Amino acid sequence: HRHVSHATPEAVEAVVDTGHFHPEAILWQKLDAYRGAGGYRLLADCRAGKLSVEALTKTLEAANLRGLGGAGFPTFKKWGFVRAEPGPRYCAINADEGEPGTFKDRHYLEREPHRFLEGALVSAWAVEAEALYVYLRDEYPGLHRVLHEAIAELEAAGLVDPGYIVLRRGAGAYICGEESAMIESLEGKPGKPRHRPPFVAQRGLFDRPTLVNNVETVYWIPRIWEEGAAWFADQGRHGRKGLRSFSVSGRVNRPGVHLAPAGITLNELVEEYCGGLPDGHRLAAYLPGGASGGILPASKADIPLDFDTLQAEGCFIGSAAIIVLSDQDDLRDVATNLLAFFADESCGQCTPCRVGTEKMLTLLERDTWQAADLERLSQVMMDASICGLGQAAPNPVLGLLRNFRDALAAQNVIVKG
Ligand code: SF4
Repeated sequence: HRHVSHATPEAVEAVVDTGHFHPEAILWQKLDAYRGAGGYRLLADCRAGKLSVEALTKTLEAANLRGLGGAGFPTFKKWGFVRAEPGPRYCAINADEGEPGTFKDRHYLEREPHRFLEGALVSAWAVEAEALYVYLRDEYPGLHRVLHEAIAELEAAGLVDPGYIVLRRGAGAYICGEESAMIESLEGKPGKPRHRPPFVAQRGLFDRPTLVNNVETVYWIPRIWEEGAAWFADQGRHGRKGLRSFSVSGRVNRPGVHLAPAGITLNELVEEYCGGLPDGHRLAAYLPGGASGGILPASKADIPLDFDTLQAEGCFIGSAAIIVLSDQDDLRDVATNLLAFFADESCGQCTPCRVGTEKMLTLLERDTWQAADLERLSQVMMDASICGLGQAAPNPVLGLLRNFRDALAAQNVIVKG
């Protein structure tokens, strides 16, 4: 989040205003309150054999629950892949939430840690995991305390064996949000992404089959079970299914986490949920998926925001971090800021990313951009980088070259070629 501040100070102000908290001030739902409202009944039914993995899998399929960390992979299929591998198996929850502009996982963890933990425990049950790991970013110290206490409540109540849930802290590396880097980090090694195959579902934590899920994905499992798959699926818009937690920041009157239909357009989201743009600002561009998901112009604010739909524009929704930019934002600052972020966070393991991000930053700092050079460098990075960081780093630059040449010229950046 810090890195976006140079591009749009208000964007970060918005994030800080809505997301800043004092650890002492977090009012979370304690175990008694959650159980009083029916919490942990799903887990009890699963453990008692009243509910089969197959039945729950069908429910998640009908709800169209997809991985909400960014990849959008159908959750029920992931369960199937891990279950197909021989035990022992592990379950690891990715609570690293490092994509700039994303703060939805924190939103849920701060309020309903037990609903999250129930979903995580049900996932672990579904793959018969030996242990459940939660990898929490260290920038969320207040949440570490919340989860620590919530886990202690569960252990004291006899709902989990002591030590079954292992809460681990990250160390400030964006790349550890990548699942195989997270696993390396959980094993005590530097967070460097692994080559695939093998996939983590086959050989993950300690070389064992591992189910890796995002916080929000598992949060929805008890909720979908309570309210029904149709309740979740029917809330989509423009032919999409489900709900998405959009983390909205930037030039809007009401930034924050907005739970909205999957497939809503940017124009609809901003008008219906975010109170429009502040007076004196006109929509110029938006980032549909944080730093990695590319950049789109105002003329493309009527595209359904969901997995798959943005691909034709070279963009993706990822973790649904929407950053809204106005005519008062400097596009070159946006590009250099994002590339500086990627260069800073590159793990350095492969040359196209380590050298490519630095090189691209140098090219962007010039007053004249050579499109052919930027495109060739982008292609190498996309083709040859080991992981998503290097592959996605050129997205904002390619988006600017594709759709913003006039706007760049008005801001004294000449694009040649
Ligand atoms: Fe590391 Fe970048 Fe290569 Fe990913 S693409 S493995 S972050 S150097």
